[in-house]
Amino acid sequence: MAKIGFIGLGNMGGPMATNLLKAGHSVKVFDIVDDLTKPLARDGATVAESAAAAVTDVEVLISMLPASVHVESLYLGKSGLLERIDPATLVVDSSTIAPSSAVKVATAASEKGIAMIDAPVSGGVGGAVAGTLTFIVGGSTEAFERARPILADMGKNLFHAGDAGAGQVAKICNNMLLSVLMTGTAEALQLGVSKGLDPAVLSEIMRKSSGGNWALEVYNPWPGVMENVPASRDYEGGFLVDLMIKDLGLAMEAAMEAGTSTPMGSLARNLYLNHRHQGFGRKDFSSIQKMFEAD
Ligand code: NAD
Repeated sequence: MAKIGFIGLGNMGGPMATNLLKAGHSVKVFDIVDDLTKPLARDGATVAESAAAAVTDVEVLISMLPASVHVESLYLGKSGLLERIDPATLVVDSSTIAPSSAVKVATAASEKGIAMIDAPVSGGVGGAVAGTLTFIVGGSTEAFERARPILADMGKNLFHAGDAGAGQVAKICNNMLLSVLMTGTAEALQLGVSKGLDPAVLSEIMRKSSGGNWALEVYNPWPGVMENVPASRDYEGGFLVDLMIKDLGLAMEAAMEAGTSTPMGSLARNLYLNHRHQGFGRKDFSSIQKMFEAD
């Protein structure tokens, strides 16, 4: 069993750290919000007084923070953690951040002799709680293999996408495609229903036809067509519109850097931005169905 430091105990990090404790690891936790450490302390975690304290005497350090700015300020600069981390410690950042930011931090780590991987996740809060996350890793093969047994205690699918930053690139490509599939599915469902079709019948026809996709398989956006999806509980829970907009912003930044054309992703981002302006930021991203609602 490993000695692990875990920084960032929010919606995702909290249950991920809990699963490491359940697997028998010794976990030292830190979050700038004190209260978030309490349930983990009850489960057997040691609470660190500061981020610096969370990185001492650990074999693996995991961070799960909101965005690039948080990750860069945690690790970089004179007071950053890279100044304190033992080179024997493997660093895993699971936050979803800009690929360029992930490369910047991993390069700075490498200059100090510290192995670091980007390991963003897919699977949401449900996957974090159930320990079934997908980890999409960027970094060296050696670092990926070192991380594998620890990641396996929090997830069930582990992918090595390539070098530093590649995990972030793959993650934002996937989420950009997901946003396009979801908006397209919602648009088609509304057209069919407005022309008199039953949404469940239409969903089944498209699911088995050439329009079939993940939204129709497991995450239907029309209320009542599927049980146990956000659409059937007023779009509560699931993957927030705010987070989808954040990931689409990262995709647009990456597209600008790479000089590639992403018209579908750009349109989806604009649709989601308008949707947020209508008050849906904290709802599941399948609530985009409401934007197509006919009079
Ligand atoms: P969250 O806001 O709930 O949690 C982030 C935590 O980081 C907060 O508790 C915050 O206090 C803490 N934090 C911020 N700066 C810190 C610092 N310097 N030191 C210590 N703690 C600090 O966010 P989340 O939903 O847990 O998401 C985390 C990451 O995972 C994001 O990058 C998000 O895009 C990604 N993600 C989220 C989901 C999801 O469904 N929530 C799914 C996949 C990926």
